[in-house]
Amino acid sequence: MTEQMKHEEGFEFQAEIKKLLNILSHSLYTHKEVFLRELISNASDALTKMKFYSLTNADYEGKDIPLEINIDGDNEKKTLTISDTGIGMTKDEIIQNVGTIAKSGSLEFITNLSEQAKNDSNIIGQFGVGFYAVFMVADEVRIRTKSHKKGEPAYEWHSDGTGKYFLNPIEKANRGTEIIVHLKDEEKEYTEKSRIQSIIKKYSNFVSFPIMVCGERANQITAIWKEPKKDIKEEQYTEFYKFISNTEDTPLFHLHTSAEAPIQFSSILYCPSTNYETYGFKKLEHGVHLYSNKILIQSDCKLLLPEYLRFIHGVVDSSDIPLNISRETFQDNRIIHKMKSILVKQVLTLLQDMARNEKEKYETFWRQFGRILKEGCTSILKTRIP
Ligand code: ADP
Repeated sequence: MTEQMKHEEGFEFQAEIKKLLNILSHSLYTHKEVFLRELISNASDALTKMKFYSLTNADYEGKDIPLEINIDGDNEKKTLTISDTGIGMTKDEIIQNVGTIAKSGSLEFITNLSEQAKNDSNIIGQFGVGFYAVFMVADEVRIRTKSHKKGEPAYEWHSDGTGKYFLNPIEKANRGTEIIVHLKDEEKEYTEKSRIQSIIKKYSNFVSFPIMVCGERANQITAIWKEPKKDIKEEQYTEFYKFISNTEDTPLFHLHTSAEAPIQFSSILYCPSTNYETYGFKKLEHGVHLYSNKILIQSDCKLLLPEYLRFIHGVVDSSDIPLNISRETFQDNRIIHKMKSILVKQVLTLLQDMARNEKEKYETFWRQFGRILKEGCTSILKTRIP
């Protein structure tokens, strides 16, 4: 018996987690890649907590280490390792946070899922189920963590995701958490640098801390929607528009707003300068992406604007929307409906002001998008050229 095994303690997962793990490990879901989004989101949360803690406290572990996320794949060992220098966890916190599901949203998600999963295993992973999503691709996971609280011993948690987990005291030099994902044979692609980089670009590009993949920074773009308007230059708005809408056009105008009440959200909406529908291209698709704390929840989200504003591009970010929102609750989400009505009002008010004060610009807009806007004419009568 090794020294480590002498101290090993075994624990049973909570019943809900067992149910979830069972569904996840048999999942045929094709977008399993979201597991990485979930792990990065947890790492980013732990780093944010560390950042705030350090602003008001002087006494904590690892004062000089930079706040960042490091990701490395090992093709031979079939492992993917995600490390952060965030707040870490004590032994009790691991048991509390990783062994049980505390949030009502997750429980509701599982309840919906177990009925649905029989017919549609593709639903799994769509909206994420936090840390446990990792068991869609892993046959074993190790969490090595050291708390920011001074004097707390470091611990390793490990599990194959079938019902039990184990805890061992370990030596770990730095504060923070390291997740070692032992990939299933058929999921080896997640050790490839380019695959990891492309997943980060898709879901986690705007995370505020550096994400280093094999020593190279993978996330590049600042989440300008979270910055004060006065700090952003016109070129930055244009550059960001080109990035999110994949175009070389310059937008006709943009609208950057943030609200604290009744719900907290920030958004930047853009109106393109050309309406490709009028050139015989197919009907425009919605182009507003929904984020929660800089992590992508859904691209081209149809629920945020009505059909008659489908030409608008942009981003909407609300920390009031949980990452693990399920498809059903998404449709009926009160926050999304509320945001939609605020966004519509903002766009229509801007158009109305433009019609009054910037006639030429408004006429350009109307020539391009008037036809589409007319589809919603009962609500927009007031915005017609006076
Ligand atoms: P959620 O992140 O939605 O709360 P998860 O299942 O993903 O749910 O994670 C459960 C909890 O485990 C987190 O709330 C957090 O307290 C803890 N945790 C997970 N990953 C980390 C990490 N990298 N560093 C510190 N704590 C973490």
